[in-house]
Amino acid sequence: MRLLFTSGSPSDTVEIARALGAALRPGDVVALCGDLGAGKTLFCKGVGEALGISPDRIVSPTFTIVTEHAGPVPLTHIDVYRLAGAREAEEIGMRELLSGDGVCLVEWAEKIRELLPTDCIQVTFSISGDDRREIAVAAPDRPVFEEFRARSIRFQRGG
Ligand code: ADP
Ligand code: MG
Repeated sequence: MRLLFTSGSPSDTVEIARALGAALRPGDVVALCGDLGAGKTLFCKGVGEALGISPDRIVSPTFTIVTEHAGPVPLTHIDVYRLAGAREAEEIGMRELLSGDGVCLVEWAEKIRELLPTDCIQVTFSISGDDRREIAVAAPDRPVFEEFRARSIRFQRGG
């Protein structure tokens, strides 16, 4: 399933993220791609909220690459911005992290594309104005994502 969203504000982005978060299951990997300031970390906060994790615990890491959050569904928040690429990611155990039993969110996932599971959920951001973001979500065809589609309909473009 591919959905295209227009977000007009940070709170729109959080709302879309919460709706996606509610559809995620243990073992899911969400790959977030897009430029600096596009809204990846903010989106992670929304996903975290849906999983019962306080948004202030999800921050843009300066030097930390991996942060693990305990919760009803454990959340692993990864930001690979500072890694050179897939090789370096493998050296720090990325394959194990990506195959854990919680939900895994990966910012700058384009840098480690070859390590991502084929059934990962892809979220791609582009900046289209000061407060405007285009967000594309590609997810496997599973019934839970139909619920996500229904819950996020007011932000969708082109059906
Ligand atoms: P990234 O992790 O992609 O670098 P962040 O989530 O850290 O981006 O930051 C996004 C920034 O853009 C925040 O300062 C946020 O307030 C701002 N912003 C403005 N409009 C939006 C929007 N529609 N969606 C997401 N962020 C937005
Ligand atoms: Mg970020």
